[in-house]
Amino acid sequence: LGADPLELRHAPEEILGLAKAFNDMLNRLSISWEQQQQFVGNVSHELKTPLTVISGYLQSLLRRGDNLNSYQNQALETASAEAERTIRMLQDLLDLARVDSGNLHFRLMPTVLNTLIAEVAEMTRRVTGRQIIMQTPKSEIVVYADQNRLEQALINLLDNAAKYSNQDQVVYINLEQSNQQTLIHIIDQGVGIPLAHQSRIFERFYRVDEAMTRSRDGTGLGLAIAKSLIEGMQGKITLRSKLGEGSTFTIILPNWESLP
Ligand code: ADP
Repeated sequence: LGADPLELRHAPEEILGLAKAFNDMLNRLSISWEQQQQFVGNVSHELKTPLTVISGYLQSLLRRGDNLNSYQNQALETASAEAERTIRMLQDLLDLARVDSGNLHFRLMPTVLNTLIAEVAEMTRRVTGRQIIMQTPKSEIVVYADQNRLEQALINLLDNAAKYSNQDQVVYINLEQSNQQTLIHIIDQGVGIPLAHQSRIFERFYRVDEAMTRSRDGTGLGLAIAKSLIEGMQGKITLRSKLGEGSTFTIILPNWESLP
């Protein structure tokens, strides 16, 4: 919750009473926060199972739907796409619930970035059809990270870079290493993020309320997940963006050699 219990050993009676009331409140808040997170996790789990069944049947109907008229076909396609989108959102909520409960374990180890980034870039290129240009040094760059979770965070950022720019605009990935840390810049030339929204876009479900963003499919959870994952491996994500010119998201990770 970002607040620590007060420990006032030699304060007058009244202040001690206040400190006790404060600590009780903090305790109750933290219990209710935990219950809320648990609730979100449980509900997501319960909803995901039946939705997966619904989605499976919709897809099988679509596959066998030779004698469907165009209205039926379109209705099935829309229902199937929405079911899929909801499943993705529930999976995101489950991931966040695991982060909150401390049950998401990070396997931190020396991780070679050059190959990992090349693979993620290739995957994004295939899925989005977008041109991705990598500028990575020839030498091997090794950071201290959890490979799978770093991949997931990178995919979320690259997906956004492609989603919030036009098909003919290039996405760049630049790697920069200093003594202590490595910076991975994901640069797009897309719509950009208005200054007033920049401090909030890492919040859960937060989406910029502009026509361009709203027309893109999304849940508002991708950045929240990326941030939790990167912070879970002692890293940071920063953002620089200008409306109409594009955005640069930067993942900062400790170098393997820089650790004691
Ligand atoms: P989603 O993309 O599913 O809406 P995210 O959490 O990934 O959710 O992003 C939150 C919001 O931040 C997006 O809705 C969009 O408004 C904004 N955003 C994220 N990445 C970019 C980007 N590269 N360019 C412009 N806006 C972005």
